[in-house]
Amino acid sequence: MTSLYVHIPFCASRCPYCDFATAPATSALRARYLAALRGEIAREGAALGRPRIATAFFGGGTPSLLDPHEIASLSDAIREAFDFTPEEVTFEANPATLDRARLEAWRALGATRMSLGAQSFSQRALASLGRTHVPSDIAPAVTAARSLGMDVNLDLIFGRPDEPDGEWRADLDAALEQVPEHVSAYPLELVLEPEEGIANWGGGGWPTVERWRIAAAAAQPDDDGLADRYELTADVLRAAGYRHYEIANWAQPGKECRHNLVYWRNGEWLGVGAGAHSHLSGRRTRQPGGLLGYLARVEHELGRIDDAAADPAVDTAILALRLDEGLDLAAYGARFGAPARARVDAELRGLDGTGLLERHGDRVVLTDRGRFVANEVFVRLL
Ligand code: SF4
Repeated sequence: MTSLYVHIPFCASRCPYCDFATAPATSALRARYLAALRGEIAREGAALGRPRIATAFFGGGTPSLLDPHEIASLSDAIREAFDFTPEEVTFEANPATLDRARLEAWRALGATRMSLGAQSFSQRALASLGRTHVPSDIAPAVTAARSLGMDVNLDLIFGRPDEPDGEWRADLDAALEQVPEHVSAYPLELVLEPEEGIANWGGGGWPTVERWRIAAAAAQPDDDGLADRYELTADVLRAAGYRHYEIANWAQPGKECRHNLVYWRNGEWLGVGAGAHSHLSGRRTRQPGGLLGYLARVEHELGRIDDAAADPAVDTAILALRLDEGLDLAAYGARFGAPARARVDAELRGLDGTGLLERHGDRVVLTDRGRFVANEVFVRLL
């Protein structure tokens, strides 16, 4: 039994803050990419002995812009390659690229959850992020997914350029009006170094994107402003009955994303498509992020690239601390041995008294403040 991640890189347009592996929806490579993806799925399924898929996640890019016949052919390839009887199937959707026929095709594939890139309910904020959808696209997309029996995650971004006081609070209220089963809320993070081979920067290329990012970063709230917004998010969603189960994720009881929990518990999954990572039998591998690099590798059946930098003991400790269940040092010691446990324990004890961590017996958990500055904790474990 494993989990499956499928990367669909195509987007209607490129958002200037985004660093994911994407390509234009009109790319001449689209059919070739989907054929390569089906081939990769067939080979991996055979190599793994046609395992049962427990959860699946179709991310991107914008999976929701695939045409119904493209979704159906992916579905056929997956069912042929795997015992595809998952408890949860999520697909990512852009509010501007969703229609009934596409939704029904995702439902026929087995989708139980739609993760909607709403980002904000403010037209000003969406424009400041360079998004092409408008606030009035969001509610109909939620209603349509619900009508097919799917749960909904709303993806939101705070700390937008020139964000006025109160705008983020209004976003949280508008999000709650949709009664989503799940909310993901991230601060806007602007990377100023391009990752080679990953991005198709569109328009004027990287120089234009870099100029946009420098101006946007200068207009973002400062660190205190971001911390206030994060605290507000935690307070508002907790009061509304959501469990803050991961640094940036909240869920109604029982509605946590099971697929993402596999990642955070450092479990086993197969990732297919450009830039996709896998973790199988303790080995981390990945595919190239650029479309041409991916095609060259998959069409020549070269297999995935070993992720030499991966350290399972370090990864497991950091990932566990992202969750509200925290890091169970006893279980960690049983999995990685007493020396690994002692090392992690000693590093975390260095933070005793800082208010970033709490200990409950063998379990170490980040506090709310620790969650906001989690990277300061994680860097100690590297
Ligand atoms: S943010 Fe989403 S829609 Fe925008 S370019 Fe990135 S993957 Fe595509």
